[in-house]
Amino acid sequence: MASGDGRRNRQDLVPLAALISREMRSEKMEKPTVRYGHAAQSRKGEDYFLIKTDCQRVPGNSSSTFSVFAIFDGHNGKAAAIYTRENLLNHVMSAVPHGLGRDEWLQALPRALVAGFVKTDKEFQSRGETSGTTATFVIVDSWTVTVASVGDSRCILDTQGDSVSTLTVDHRLEENVEERERVTASGGEVGRLSIVGGAEIGPLRCWPGGLCLSRSIGDTDVGEFIVPIPYVKQVKLSNAGGRLIIASDGIWDALSSEAAAKSCRGLPADLAARQVVKEALRTRGLKDDTTCIVVDIIAPDNSEKPSPVKKQNVLKSLLFRRKSSSNKLSKKLSAVGIVEELFEEGSAMLAERLGNDDATGQSTSGLFTCAVCQVDLAPSEGISVHAGSIFSTSTKPWQGPFLCAGCRDKKDAMEGKRPSGVKVA
Ligand SMILES: [Zn+2]
Repeated sequence: MASGDGRRNRQDLVPLAALISREMRSEKMEKPTVRYGHAAQSRKGEDYFLIKTDCQRVPGNSSSTFSVFAIFDGHNGKAAAIYTRENLLNHVMSAVPHGLGRDEWLQALPRALVAGFVKTDKEFQSRGETSGTTATFVIVDSWTVTVASVGDSRCILDTQGDSVSTLTVDHRLEENVEERERVTASGGEVGRLSIVGGAEIGPLRCWPGGLCLSRSIGDTDVGEFIVPIPYVKQVKLSNAGGRLIIASDGIWDALSSEAAAKSCRGLPADLAARQVVKEALRTRGLKDDTTCIVVDIIAPDNSEKPSPVKKQNVLKSLLFRRKSSSNKLSKKLSAVGIVEELFEEGSAMLAERLGNDDATGQSTSGLFTCAVCQVDLAPSEGISVHAGSIFSTSTKPWQGPFLCAGCRDKKDAMEGKRPSGVKVA
């Protein structure tokens, strides 16, 4: 296929990058030390966060420990933020196949994150509550950072010096044209609030509901085209390490990514988180819930010194060169240097995100399981995620992954193929 040739050609063009990446991989990479801090100022009491540093890939095996850091910025109440905080991690982990080694586990995360976000949303909506939440969910496993997010709680990566990268995209109707077009095409109406006299005020919102975000968890009363399918990005740091700043829009409405990173450089993580919040309040005052988590991923004290500065400068121009989100292949090496980009995908289409696989979904009992909610499916019950979609021309509709009837309904609703569960009062 043409796209395959394109990929090969592109690789041929970057022999230097491939060479250096091989060198980096053979380099002895001890597990980094992870230090973190958290700070918050509450106005509405709808910001929640999760810090869990004792998760284990293999239960009981301390060498398989990984950390989770997350922010949930609720709106129209706090129930969705609390529910997501309590359930999202479990839902993501239950979607990762058992018995995987570290590399396979990391490769399975992007898909498991999609399943976990959609399952959490579906379950919360079935409770009949109306609030919603952003979710920015960060998994730190050794030097690999995997970020999944819906909404506008941003996560940035500061690799010292002057390179600040964003590991999330803002799902806001005002700024994100692509998302605005998707919502409109799926049946949503996008416009500003009009006040008496016809004047339009405030940011672009989606109607019914009046939400400014294009993706979230919850929001039962808004159309289902406000999807819970996360943008996912996975990067691997070099042993120079890096600093993550994860924060709700209370920070980002006041500070640019660069300003936030610069405001706290040189401070330890706990003081850095406080400094970022302080800086945001100084700039804008307390207009919104403001929450910040700072995570430092640093070389262990007994390891070699970080790569020489000269090498970093040579590679700086290669950093995050690939901006396209069209490449769906994971593990695609596209940029090396301080940060190796392993995966990036932001599509809102569930079929694209769950991919093509006839091996997955089969449980040990020989039954197939739903790729989203993990329930066992009777032989006659499973519906291929690709059946009846525009993708079914190029793939086999009897191929996995499979969905249960409920998740298939949700998929159709998210794509605007049936009226969503909007209840008009
Ligand atoms: Zn299901």
